[in-house]
Amino acid sequence: MTETPTVNIRPHLPMGELADHARGPALSQATASRARLTLSWEDGTLADFPLAWLRDHCACPECRHPLTRERLILPLEAPTEAPETRVVEGNLALVWADGHVSRFDAVWLHQRRPGQGREDAVPTRRPWARDYRPTRVDHADFVAGAEGERTWLTALLRDGLVLLENGPLADEEVSRLASRIGPLRATNFGARFDVKSKPNPNNAAYTAIGLALHTDLPNWRHPPDIQLLYCLENDAEGGESTFFDGFAAAEALRVESPEAFRRLAETPIDFRFQDENHDIVWRAPVIDLDEAGRVVEVRLNNWIRDTLRLPLEEIDAWYDAYRAFWTLAQDPENRLEFSLAPGEMVAFDNRRVMHGRNAFDPSTGRRHLQGTYLDLDMCESRLRVLARRA
Ligand SMILES: [Zn+2]
Repeated sequence: MTETPTVNIRPHLPMGELADHARGPALSQATASRARLTLSWEDGTLADFPLAWLRDHCACPECRHPLTRERLILPLEAPTEAPETRVVEGNLALVWADGHVSRFDAVWLHQRRPGQGREDAVPTRRPWARDYRPTRVDHADFVAGAEGERTWLTALLRDGLVLLENGPLADEEVSRLASRIGPLRATNFGARFDVKSKPNPNNAAYTAIGLALHTDLPNWRHPPDIQLLYCLENDAEGGESTFFDGFAAAEALRVESPEAFRRLAETPIDFRFQDENHDIVWRAPVIDLDEAGRVVEVRLNNWIRDTLRLPLEEIDAWYDAYRAFWTLAQDPENRLEFSLAPGEMVAFDNRRVMHGRNAFDPSTGRRHLQGTYLDLDMCESRLRVLARRA
């Protein structure tokens, strides 16, 4: 005679939620008072939920649209009486005083216990350590399906930089790859741009000078988030790509020179691009902090820094702080430098990682990169969708 294993028969209730809530503990007990419901789960977890919260989160077709999954009710009236409360097959059933019935999935509730943070497939950002080496993903794995793309997105969102390799030498491949994730973010330079040089250049756009580390378009209130650069040709001598983690640089400045850090974080300055058809200006600090004092953005681009408009007594101190940050950001020990090979693509967070390139000799060969931008929201969204399917 064999023993029958315990099977969790808890049915999975629809909650208007696409992220997984199938696996987890069933409810064992529910007790309502006038303002709260106390729940206990099979794993020993206990939690209180305000009745107003439960009424607001009812997922029945009257309260939540069955197709759009969006909320249809406004929480204008607080429940005044405790509902009739039952645990049915491990899930929660409530009958409110007006007869309305709400059913809640046990695991969905477990994930949303008051005080619990949001579970998210998007990783937290991690500044580069001294031995940081970029994650590399094969083009074939990226386009084959979920796993390669997930690895690529996770590294990009965590480290602010990732490499793709062994791709085809095909015009517009960068646009095809970007479009898997979201719409291309257009700027005054278009949705897709060429970084190209020719032997014997006859135009300034085809110069071969080195480009110091910078972030793109800090003169926009919302600079492009993610930049993709796909290499189609690169046989000129020199022209190595350089990268520096702006978050790591800002943190180093905070330690080495707190006064310089504070000044760059607290002093908005003007950035500006102007040509015959455009005049795009934004005023923002070089280092942007959130309310908790964490670095959330770096704007560094010496070419399009506009007139420094500051009170007389602040000007010299600002230049001192800027020099300190600039010097730190040139530190070769912490700079990433490599040559992109044809068929390779680098993607990086333009509001975090500074990029540049070494000078090259255009008489020794061609160098052609194609680039575009993506919104961070689309990258995070794509990663959550892929995690949902995994
Ligand atoms: Zn309802």
